[in-house]
Amino acid sequence: MQNTISCEIISVGTELLLGDITNTNTAYLARRLAVLGIPVYRQTVVGDNAVRLTQALEEAYGRSALVILTGGLGPTCDDITKETVADYFSLPMEEDAPTRKAIEDYFHARGRAFSKNNLKQCLVPRGATVFANSWGTAPGIGIEQDGKYAVLLPGPPHELKSMFEETVLPWLSRFSPSTLYSLNLHLAGIGEGEVEAVLREMMNAGENPTIAPYAGEGDVRIRITARAENEPRARQMCAAAAQEIRETSVGKYIYASTDTPEDAAAVVERTLLSVFGENGLTFGAAESCTGGMVCAQIAALPGASAVLRGGIVSYANGVKTGVLGVTEEVLNTSGAVSEACAAQMAVGAVKRLGCDIAVSVTGIAGPDGGTPEKPVGTVCFAVACSEDLGGRVETCTEHYRSALSREQIRRLSSTKAIQLAVAAAKKCGAFPA
Ligand code: ATP
Repeated sequence: MQNTISCEIISVGTELLLGDITNTNTAYLARRLAVLGIPVYRQTVVGDNAVRLTQALEEAYGRSALVILTGGLGPTCDDITKETVADYFSLPMEEDAPTRKAIEDYFHARGRAFSKNNLKQCLVPRGATVFANSWGTAPGIGIEQDGKYAVLLPGPPHELKSMFEETVLPWLSRFSPSTLYSLNLHLAGIGEGEVEAVLREMMNAGENPTIAPYAGEGDVRIRITARAENEPRARQMCAAAAQEIRETSVGKYIYASTDTPEDAAAVVERTLLSVFGENGLTFGAAESCTGGMVCAQIAALPGASAVLRGGIVSYANGVKTGVLGVTEEVLNTSGAVSEACAAQMAVGAVKRLGCDIAVSVTGIAGPDGGTPEKPVGTVCFAVACSEDLGGRVETCTEHYRSALSREQIRRLSSTKAIQLAVAAAKKCGAFPA
């Protein structure tokens, strides 16, 4: 391992300067470099202009030995990154046979012709490391010369990320002083402030591992990061801190742990499949304001068929009564957006779908339809277990901020419904059918 060196990121693209696209690549790279323990000292954006890019390179190498560039590796003449960096290092461009073959195969597989323009993408600076692009045509490039290092990555985020994870991370690991590992604990049903209040002492005391809560869309994440001489040791340190957290009063709100900082929806969907799958349980939903979103989220995952029985979109009151068995009395006294109605919807879904556990969602996603008692953002949920599992029904209400869009309220509601189902399945796990 070499000594740690500092790094700068240069993003190339006039679209970025104009604000037409958001620079998510830099955010992603900065996070990943932090995990490696490689300090990032500057982030620069330049347009597709060779003179300004050369200036940016000169300035960056005046401060840092490692420069990572993104974008401008395409086949057109305004894609100038590779040529400009090659000029900066005075390296001639040469055709790379494996890259040419990969690009020809890429076009062949899609029934498209390899054009003269693509020859440009087969050229790499002499002696460079080539990082294969599994999603597109532009290869990534690694250059090392006289203590200066350059990494060139394609602009499209999915190409950049997969290349970075697959081949660039190992190339960069020589600069990492130690291994950093992060574990994320996902919590539902508790606010970030409360988590912070409970963990404040641990957070202040802990330098390694560090503990930090983050408020996400639909959940709170506690990120534990340990730095150690190797990954197994860093994992061990994170696991020990996670155990300490589980033993505090926030422990019961933890519904999943992951080692990537994903959003709540992705984590909870996967968790539902694994928790239901492990306990041999089936899932269903009765959805009003989410209109099928809960089922769509689950169905998006491979393996959903083992768990998902189905769903009923009961938007109209007639469907709530006719299909799910919600009573007129509940509709007249409590209304369609009420925990009483949600409870009957969930019980009805268990019966009609023949599943072990069903959730229901009924709410006001706006922008219209709110009243002083039930403003936009009021969403009622219920989760019901089959008779075999004890027939338990639990309800709750969320008051989402009315400033949220209809779409956001619906998305948060589906995530919440899935979280409730996961919590119910965990309880049922004690006495499986
Ligand atoms: P291509 O081979 O597709 O031309 P490229 O390496 O030349 O790739 P650019 O042409 O600079 O990359 O960008 C292609 C697309 O990638 C942009 O239109 C944009 O959608 C996305 N992109 C580029 N840079 C970034 C960035 N820094 N953050 C997020 N997205 C980006």
